[in-house]
Amino acid sequence: MRFQPRTRVACEGGALKVRLAFRMALNLIPESDPVLRDIAKPIADYGSRRLLRLAGEMEDLRAEECALGLAAPQVGVSERIIVVEIPDDDFVGIPETYPVPATVLVNPEIVWETEQLIKLPEGCLSLCGMMGNVLRPSRIQVEARDVEGNPFSILADGWLARVLQHEIDHLDGILYPDRIEEPGELWIVETVELNDPVWSRNPTVREILERRNPNSPGEAGMA
Ligand SMILES: [Zn+2]
Repeated sequence: MRFQPRTRVACEGGALKVRLAFRMALNLIPESDPVLRDIAKPIADYGSRRLLRLAGEMEDLRAEECALGLAAPQVGVSERIIVVEIPDDDFVGIPETYPVPATVLVNPEIVWETEQLIKLPEGCLSLCGMMGNVLRPSRIQVEARDVEGNPFSILADGWLARVLQHEIDHLDGILYPDRIEEPGELWIVETVELNDPVWSRNPTVREILERRNPNSPGEAGMA
């Protein structure tokens, strides 16, 4: 899942520069690729060199793309593995946000979800240039294994719950627009307004907005 439209503006961390020194072996597949709609296969070869390499390269690609999450089908691998990270960013207007380090989840499964639903905006590396408001449970429990096969459980709310649901959907061939019932809840990123209280505070979106409005007074329009 991506919080921001695709651009490198937000990618200025030292760790990322190190990662960019290496060429990525994995690439995002186009949204027309049918793999995005397949049910991904469970993973059995815990601890294998193949799985360690897949997880590492997925994490590198996720970081390079400044995405909060990435699922294997997005790189053409129809297997049940996702990587997620919630940075310590300023998610203005987003409740219950807390940073979560980069985490690999193999064979993740949602085993519980609250009945309380929350609507939040989502974007996706596989659907560039679009965003949409998606209604999902605000709190979930996920059981998964690490790359060595050790089981663990995550009780998640806030953005972590959102990202986990988005990425686990990818493993079942579901893309976020599938969960949007009102056409008006899906929009092209370039239509975001300069005074939008959430997006105008996001540095990447602001850069796009200011480029679109070169005579704007910069911060003056930001909520
Ligand atoms: Zn996605």
